[in-house]
Amino acid sequence: MCDQHKNVTATRVLSVSSAKAPFEKTTIEQRELKPHDILIDIKYSGICHSDIHSAYDEWGGGIFPMVPGHEIAGVVAAVGSEVRKFSVGDRVGVGCMVDSCGECEYCLSGEEQFCTKGFIATYNSLDYDGNPTYGGYCQKIVVTERFVVRIPDALDLDVAAPLLCAGITTYSPLNHWNAAPGKKVAIVGMGGLGHLAIQFAHAMGAEVTVLSRSINKKDEALGFGADHYFATSDPATFTDLAGRFDLILNTVSANLDVNAYLSLLRVDGTLVNVGAPAEPNQYHVFSLIMKRRSLAGSLIGGIQETQEMLDFAAQHGIAPKIEVIRADQVDEAYDRVLRSDVRYRFVIDISTL
Ligand code: NAP
Ligand code: ZN
Repeated sequence: MCDQHKNVTATRVLSVSSAKAPFEKTTIEQRELKPHDILIDIKYSGICHSDIHSAYDEWGGGIFPMVPGHEIAGVVAAVGSEVRKFSVGDRVGVGCMVDSCGECEYCLSGEEQFCTKGFIATYNSLDYDGNPTYGGYCQKIVVTERFVVRIPDALDLDVAAPLLCAGITTYSPLNHWNAAPGKKVAIVGMGGLGHLAIQFAHAMGAEVTVLSRSINKKDEALGFGADHYFATSDPATFTDLAGRFDLILNTVSANLDVNAYLSLLRVDGTLVNVGAPAEPNQYHVFSLIMKRRSLAGSLIGGIQETQEMLDFAAQHGIAPKIEVIRADQVDEAYDRVLRSDVRYRFVIDISTL
């Protein structure tokens, strides 16, 4: 083995060889630690619906073989020579990003997700040297310290994992659009993102309404802190709630009737999309101009805000409801997510890989 590769870490992963292929256990090599790198022993990895969009190549541009996973919780196993912020044994997390330019106005203001050079995604991306990135369905990962966050002691690692994507993706827009006392907030879709959005919006003091397709999840929604719950399969929902909300957070993985949801906003209300279906959608401009409404989108959140979100979750007792699975159950878990048969996040126990 040449000197350059003597410290490379081989690690077992779950990978797919092409779009929609079943998962296989394979091995990859993680890079030698650079001075600011951290080697993490991954303990748990959440399954985000974005993993399915990516592994099925629904968004296009998929890089295969692919190791998905951007909800990573683990323990520091080694640190590079210049790392001061973390030590071996620390409980840490990694979300959707593993690098960014660090110099543009967005990186400098802590919104690395909008890096003008383009951030490097945790998987299905090429790093600045042109090497593919591999995600968290994996035993060990090397990440530069700027993209590693600390998991508070009050959060177990298995429930912390989904916060690294589903948590920050809902916390950030609720924060940005001021979910707060006196504000009426609706959460559309009660899946992985949605059930965390309910908890964050409630903890921020907003009056929270859940809009789900059926009434099946009502009791659990109220348990997560929702004040009201309506089934969108009932047309009366859209007449009864017309003009009601300051903010609607759409977490649905498929396209909705945007005009119908815009009609639920009051004057100056905002419909924020975080759900990311592949197909384009349509709306009528009159749905916006008649009540000065806004239609918006939001992408995960910055690293500093991710740390704030974890601390906020620990402080307020916010945690995803999870189902821990073995590595050989991931294909089945994908099928179940697609059938909306998940309460409310699958998390892979990486010790089974
Ligand atoms: P999920 O657990 O599958 O939840 C999605 C929820 O949407 C379902 O539980 C269901 O809620 C509702 N839904 C699903 N299919 C629907 C349909 N055909 N019509 C109406 N409602 C439907 O997914 P997730 O992990 O929360 O992710 C949700 C979306 O957010 C995905 O598209 C994902 O890629 C995206 N995402 C975006 C970002 C970002 O930065 N913007 C980050 C992470 C994820 P009900 O049964 O309650 O109706
Ligand atoms: Zn995600």
